Amino acid sequence: MTSRKPQLRIGLIGTGFMGKTHVFGFAAASRVFDLPYDIVLHSVADRTDELAVAAARGLGFAKSSGDWRRLVADGEIDVIDITTPNALHKEIALAAISAGKHVYCEKPLTAWASDAREMADAAEAAGVKTQVGFNYLCNPMMALARDLIASGELGEIRLYRGIHAEDYMMDPASPFTFRHDPAGGGALADIGSHALATAEYLLGPIARVMGDCVTVYDRRPDGHGGFRAVEVDDVGRAFLRFTNGASGSIEASWISTGRKMQHDFEIHGTKGALFFTQERFNELHFYSMADAAGRRGFRRIEAGPDHDPYGRFCVAPGHQLGFNDLKTIEVARFLDCLAGKRPEPFNFRAGARVQALVEAIHDSSRRSQWVEIP
Ligand code: NAD
Repeated sequence: MTSRKPQLRIGLIGTGFMGKTHVFGFAAASRVFDLPYDIVLHSVADRTDELAVAAARGLGFAKSSGDWRRLVADGEIDVIDITTPNALHKEIALAAISAGKHVYCEKPLTAWASDAREMADAAEAAGVKTQVGFNYLCNPMMALARDLIASGELGEIRLYRGIHAEDYMMDPASPFTFRHDPAGGGALADIGSHALATAEYLLGPIARVMGDCVTVYDRRPDGHGGFRAVEVDDVGRAFLRFTNGASGSIEASWISTGRKMQHDFEIHGTKGALFFTQERFNELHFYSMADAAGRRGFRRIEAGPDHDPYGRFCVAPGHQLGFNDLKTIEVARFLDCLAGKRPEPFNFRAGARVQALVEAIHDSSRRSQWVEIP
């Protein structure tokens, strides 16, 4: 039987950790959601023909190339999906936009806010749709936290504490990678971008920042017996003032020994509080002053079908979503937006906003003073 849905042909560029996660997302989204398109894994590109051929075979793409420009030039491809190192995002995205493709790009958009703005401007001028991979915002428990805040159940928000800490760079003997390149951005851009996106998703705009960014290991092995100097931060922190009057902080670190995925937040309001940790991301802890005296305490709310779209994955509460499921939700939302069923969930303009915050924190750290966010 032939499908009556239009096809959406994907060209994936980069096939490492995120490339595979995006393919999980495309494959599962077709089965979990009622998508407006039939997804076609059309072409894949990586650094060499050999890598691309192997990726096409392993991930299920029809065609492959060792040159990403061939995908951008291919008139059959509708969406260019970028999961390459950060330094390549801008060049590939701008080429794809000028070829009239929709673009799905991993975070951070770029290391520099002006480049990110240029990408957003280009997409808007061309009328193509864009999506940045801030997958943690697709967690139904994150939406529940935002709903609890918006409904006033926490009262006026006074305090925010956010962190994204991992330990994949804690060993000084681990080599220089694209993440250490100034065009990679450092820990604040790499994972602090997630913490900043979450902070604004929950509490709204940040008005001012006071940053402190530190390079702990100023050189890394270059893989050829020598060393390369590292200029980017291993740890980036900032005090924050939100426009709603709340004060807070975020911390980003990739040298936090023992932490594998600490994307956490704690929020305190006049009527309640929330605590969330990505290490147990199917749970949200909620404290309410509406509970009777003597009965108050953080209650643990477990994800279930009441928290849309959990029920699409599993009918039973408490059975838990996984990391790849967040990407699946992200893919489904992007496809709905391409079909005109919803606005862009997190477009290049939103990605450029995060980058502006990252840059303001770097700037503040260099100058040791508060910086206003435009
Ligand atoms: P990775 O090193 O695992 O994969 C990068 C891929 O790009 C590799 O396959 C590499 O060969 C390929 N590549 C390099 N140069 C290329 C070129 N010129 N043409 C085509 N392909 C090329 O890296 P990763 O961890 O997958 O990170 C990729 C991107 O995803 C980064 O922007 C990173 O910040 C982002 N990321 C996002 C998340 C998230 O949770 N959203 C998690 C990890 C990484």
